[in-house]
Amino acid sequence: MPDLWLPGAERHPLGDTAPTDTQYDPRVIWHITWDRNASAAKPADLVPFDTLVKYFTGGGKGAAPHLLWDPFTGRIAQFYPANSRAKSVVDTVGGTRTNRTGKVCLQVEILFFPHCRVNGKTYATVRDTPAKGLDRILTWARSWKVPDTWPMGTPMWTAHRDERTWETEGGHYGHSQVPENQHTDPGPMPQWPGSTSTPKPAPPTFPGRSAFGPGKSNASILLLGQQLVRRDYGKHYRVGPSRDWGEADRRNVADFQRAQGWTGSDADGYPGPETWRRLFT
Ligand SMILES: [Zn+2]
Repeated sequence: MPDLWLPGAERHPLGDTAPTDTQYDPRVIWHITWDRNASAAKPADLVPFDTLVKYFTGGGKGAAPHLLWDPFTGRIAQFYPANSRAKSVVDTVGGTRTNRTGKVCLQVEILFFPHCRVNGKTYATVRDTPAKGLDRILTWARSWKVPDTWPMGTPMWTAHRDERTWETEGGHYGHSQVPENQHTDPGPMPQWPGSTSTPKPAPPTFPGRSAFGPGKSNASILLLGQQLVRRDYGKHYRVGPSRDWGEADRRNVADFQRAQGWTGSDADGYPGPETWRRLFT
């Protein structure tokens, strides 16, 4: 089975999982968080990522997606595993169960509103953003067999909802294309990177030796731990890997290094570029 949790995403499991309706083809539904109503004349600062994490794990739980994605930094948080429904679209009685349609029905909330301001620059659509991390989301969606297509066309700010297409085709949908719904997000989206082929993803960039060690806390440590678990070098974790460096990380890395035939300081449990490369390829 592909990864239930997107590798490298910050995990905030809400529990409360429920199966999807697996007779339908797999899909992704895209949203923007639309936290503020700004305009070209009156742009507003983007809302902090952590504010949205707090919302979707608190008062906004009832509308939580699978992923919250910041297209400016590439930061991703995840609230439900891939095989559960999320709750970000409206599901009225009758018709398909919109939050559950598909072998997977992955929902992504993009941290964005039109005319948001980031580092002094204003962005009218998601298409204008650097779309950092989009490739990681797509790689994950493809691993769940979501095709790289927009069955109802690439999203515009206007609604276009066709129940029959929704029921018969997998792929990517905007909230503006989901039956029974009113929202018109996400608006124009970036071109799909690498949509003509599905090359093996490149290993993530080595963050440098200084990212690891006692007292360090960052996304690279989490990514490292998740990859160790995936490669079956996670036995020293009592609880799952986290952003905080611990002795379990060091011991798991050391196991992996010894398995490479390395000894001494080459197997000290602190990852260097070669450990990193071998772990991720
Ligand atoms: Zn929406």
